[in-house]
Amino acid sequence: MLRCRALDPFVQHGFTSRQLGLRPGERAGEAWASAAASVGCAVPRIGRVRQVHGAVVRVVRAGELDHPLADADAAVTRDPGTAVAVVAADCVPVLLADPVTGAVAAVHAGWRGTVANIAGVTVATLTREWGVEPSSLIAAIGPSIGPCCYEVGEDLLRAFDEAGHSSIDRAEWFSRDAAGRLRLDLWRANTDELVHAGVRPANIHVAGLCTQTHRDVFESFRAEGERAGRMAAIVVAPSPRS
Ligand SMILES: [Zn+2]
Repeated sequence: MLRCRALDPFVQHGFTSRQLGLRPGERAGEAWASAAASVGCAVPRIGRVRQVHGAVVRVVRAGELDHPLADADAAVTRDPGTAVAVVAADCVPVLLADPVTGAVAAVHAGWRGTVANIAGVTVATLTREWGVEPSSLIAAIGPSIGPCCYEVGEDLLRAFDEAGHSSIDRAEWFSRDAAGRLRLDLWRANTDELVHAGVRPANIHVAGLCTQTHRDVFESFRAEGERAGRMAAIVVAPSPRS
């Protein structure tokens, strides 16, 4: 499990690796039990979502954890001891925590979610629900496919354009190699979306670990297709600080 040093003093959290052996679609079982135990939590206390590459955020309450999984790509909570988690294999997992209110979030941002500004929508949801000041949030962007490997089609440029992302942002997020092949930097894009939402750049911590480059350590859908397992990103809402 990888942890972000900046989040460590405030919340139990982590990004699992290939070692966990988590399978796609797995909702309980040994892998989840082990991931939960690593953050001092239990599987029934984890708020999950059915990830659909959109921009819907699920607000998780301790008393509603047994509800059927909602279609969403981020989950937020502020109930102490309740966790939220997403899974990914190349897509970008983002964990957020607010040391002031104790609100936390887990975000799954593939290219579609990034087009839809899921990171920004999640920050806005934290503010709406609990009055979170974006400037106090700490963010960790976990292992995911990096700009070194993420070759994409021209249609993605169009999708980001049509969704209203500025030409300045698009110029930073997309690049071409010597052969003219287009690459997308999802780490940079999600960092910028958080900054646009009011998160301080100094509070955003990017692991900078590419899942496809380090496929011995991480799960990569691009590298392994349907055989790829998943990695969980999980964060637990802390007890109020006295
Ligand atoms: Zn790479």
